[in-house]
Amino acid sequence: MARITSRALSIAATAAAIGLLAPMTAGASTHRAFTPGAPGAGDPYFPDMGNGGYDAQHYSLSLKYDPGTKAIDATAKITARATQNLSRFDLDFLGPLKISKLTVDGRKASYTRTGAQELVITPDHGLSKGRDFTVDVAYSGVPQLINDPALGVSGWIATHDGAVALSQPFGSATWYPVNDTTHDKATYDFTVTVPNGLKVLANGDPAGTSTRGADTTFRWADRQPTASELVLLAIGHFDVRDTRTATGLRNITAVDPASVAAGNTTAADDFNAATANVIDWEQKIYGRYPFSSVGGISVLAPNVGYSLETQSRPVYARRSAGALPSATLLAHELGHQWFGDNLTPYVWQHIWLNEGFATFTEWLYNELHGGQTAQQQFDAAYNSASVDWTGKVADPGRDHIFDDLVYTRAAMTLHQLRKAIGDKAFFALIKAWPADHRYGNDTTAEFTKFAQRYTHKDLRPLFQAWLYTEGKPKL
Ligand SMILES: [Zn+2]
Repeated sequence: MARITSRALSIAATAAAIGLLAPMTAGASTHRAFTPGAPGAGDPYFPDMGNGGYDAQHYSLSLKYDPGTKAIDATAKITARATQNLSRFDLDFLGPLKISKLTVDGRKASYTRTGAQELVITPDHGLSKGRDFTVDVAYSGVPQLINDPALGVSGWIATHDGAVALSQPFGSATWYPVNDTTHDKATYDFTVTVPNGLKVLANGDPAGTSTRGADTTFRWADRQPTASELVLLAIGHFDVRDTRTATGLRNITAVDPASVAAGNTTAADDFNAATANVIDWEQKIYGRYPFSSVGGISVLAPNVGYSLETQSRPVYARRSAGALPSATLLAHELGHQWFGDNLTPYVWQHIWLNEGFATFTEWLYNELHGGQTAQQQFDAAYNSASVDWTGKVADPGRDHIFDDLVYTRAAMTLHQLRKAIGDKAFFALIKAWPADHRYGNDTTAEFTKFAQRYTHKDLRPLFQAWLYTEGKPKL
């Protein structure tokens, strides 16, 4: 034990006295003030999305689905940490679902639902900064589908034999209360009960099934931090394959047999093998795969005409003919596991960092598999009359986050970057960028700063022309 001098003892005693006195003197009111958490998370395109004052850590979602009524009967347990002294806080929850019970730390809390999607919760006591707390919400009803005029379908989508929840960009709040912002990632447990014969897929890995009477309960555990826009649930008749890729990655794919019969989806074995081939190739380009499993789901959903990526399990849904997914589409969606799912835009404005990389992955896949080179694909896009040169890639605007500019023009930007800094630096950069920001969030400014470290050339004119300026850049 260290010898304590009298001087050290005296300092310690003084510090203790100050520490004891402080709450009772001048600092007391600010120290003890409990204020409401913000009703938004600072996303300029979606001011209602997300909330302030806490950090969600884990969601434990349990629901029972009734195919007869299409309704769910659900509970959500949310574990969060207060980041300020909270008198009350919001979750995002929208649509017709009815709440029957809500507690905070096991005690009944009062709540109101206001605005577009705010569930405002007032616990019976203030929540101190740094403290963990749990919110339990019991609710039921038929979740709503969102059909945004600019951004299309998301939310809870009833299918011919079940349902699929597509969260991007704001569908999560249609089926569970959530801090619906890209920058509050959390882990998840899913416990979903369906009539025997139906199957359930969700993010992460299977964590067991059990059958009781006429119902089967499926459990899934997602142990890597996941943004709410990537949370997925699929219920239906699925032909599931649970295999390993050549590099040992768990690969769980599911196809709707009705989708195969309709010619919309490749057969279950082909789908699984194609996923394995693409993801093993991508690991060579982008480095270690960030999640515990990979896979994909093909769903026949009459309302959906596009594919959507989620953490570890992209969804491909289609209403028109033509077998999905093509190898190029797989390359795009699985590329999102690094760019979008592992590394997620801090706010939606920066979505080109998802879609540009995913589209560039298509070009690279084609180039390295006997197709057109990235340069040829760039040239075709640059000279195409159909490319819309209006809008800024780095700030497309709320209604344009899924427009072609954040896909094609963003991929063209990455191609120009590759040409400017050379292949050696470029391929080192695109491996380091997701690895250095594992499970984090990104912004355009962070990316351009990061890229600049890979060259002595001043990249500012390139980024200015391709990301921040409207119109067709000169070559
Ligand atoms: Zn995409």
